[in-house]
Amino acid sequence: MKSEELRAVLHEVAERAVAFRESRAEAPHRPQKSYAELQAAFEAPTPERGAPIGELISELATLTEPGLANMVGPRFFGWVIGATEPAGMAADWLTSAWAQNVGNAHATPAASACEERTGQWLLDLLDLPRECSVGFVTGATIANFTCLAAARGEVLRRVGWDAEADGLFGAPAVHVVLGEEAHSTVFSGLRYLGLGAKRVVSVPVDEQGLMKPGAFAKVIEKLDGPIIAIAQAGHINSGGFDPFEEIAAAAHAKGAWLHVDGAFGLWARACPDRAHLGRGLEVADSWGVDGHKWLQTPHDSAYAIVRDAEAHRRAMLIAASYLPAGAERHPADFAPELSRRGRAFATWAMIKSLGRDGIAAMVSRHCAQARRMAKRLSAEPGVEIMNDVVLNQVAVRLGADLDVAQADALTDRTIARIQNEGVCFAGGANWRGRQIVRVSVISANTTDADIDRSAEAILSAWRAELHANA
Ligand SMILES: *Cc1c(COP(=O)(O)O)cnc(C)c1O
Repeated sequence: MKSEELRAVLHEVAERAVAFRESRAEAPHRPQKSYAELQAAFEAPTPERGAPIGELISELATLTEPGLANMVGPRFFGWVIGATEPAGMAADWLTSAWAQNVGNAHATPAASACEERTGQWLLDLLDLPRECSVGFVTGATIANFTCLAAARGEVLRRVGWDAEADGLFGAPAVHVVLGEEAHSTVFSGLRYLGLGAKRVVSVPVDEQGLMKPGAFAKVIEKLDGPIIAIAQAGHINSGGFDPFEEIAAAAHAKGAWLHVDGAFGLWARACPDRAHLGRGLEVADSWGVDGHKWLQTPHDSAYAIVRDAEAHRRAMLIAASYLPAGAERHPADFAPELSRRGRAFATWAMIKSLGRDGIAAMVSRHCAQARRMAKRLSAEPGVEIMNDVVLNQVAVRLGADLDVAQADALTDRTIARIQNEGVCFAGGANWRGRQIVRVSVISANTTDADIDRSAEAILSAWRAELHANA
């Protein structure tokens, strides 16, 4: 490619990116066009001939931008989504320019060395055993999957079965024990692994969605043979943490492998005033955690952390041999893919950009903002907060004084109104038999003023629906 053309395009892209970012604070917190309108906008025959890059990039932006969610906006509280902060974004642009396929340390030593160092930083920040191996993967779904693959191989190896070589047909049964409200993507991982989404032993949970320790102990005590137990740091609705100390003791008494899904919640351990929530989870055997949620990296960034590095490597090794690892650490030995981008660069950049105290301050601020949101909303008659706001999640029940069907219908309409007005974005969920508004405070750009403005927008949408219904 001619460098003059590249220079012009990248300059234009940089200008466009900055303008896009600058417009986010006051842009509506919703896509401006519908899915159907975007399908129509993208409608075009397969290109027969090539086009100049400058032209097609400009066309792509024109087609796309009206249909983007305002996920980097300061009042975006949907799902649990970070804001792709500038340091991570800039590193990610360079990552594309460098075009490294990072599977192998001989091919690209810098990517391997960066992964190794960044992995150590993560273990230090999250205060996990420093001997753990860290795989850089796309998201917590795949981080959990990767950890559970290591778990599956290791619990079977201990009873004399080589799952990596011989698969699961004829293998001793592996019991999987988890809470009734484990995240839906954990079940995806179990499906990919041949462990089955339904073939699990569910442990009853309390009203925060957390496993009851007595029930966990009772359930696991009765099981024989290989066991994988899965606990949760950061329940999707309540933000709560399973009682790890009791769970870990009961799990390890049975020789079980204990995995922790800590997609966003594990970051509490990087924050001195929240770290108590995750106390005791350091004795687990593996942990899945996202970069693209609380660390604000670009998307496709998460970490599969495994105490037993050899079990991790056995599960993910590409070459079908168990040669001892050389001095070099090959990134592909710890993640499901061979060819992939250098994901660690953006994580390195975000950790450098925020620093240990910046991460702690951000997590602490988001948790305080979640409490502020809960307080403002619950001051309204008929609005109740269903969770203990220990972290960054707020589960809001509207119409607590109405009958359930009516309250649920009004809640759905309120959510639609909030999204349509676009001052802020919040989504819904069904939890404990009720429709709720779920507010997840996790964007680096959210200020206290954004919380107040959003609480007012949510309440005024709710009042409007109540009034329309009267
Ligand atoms: C988001 C989330 C996941 C899935 O993570 P992805 O990064 O979306 O793949 C798993 N568990 C919990 C608790 C989550 O919040």
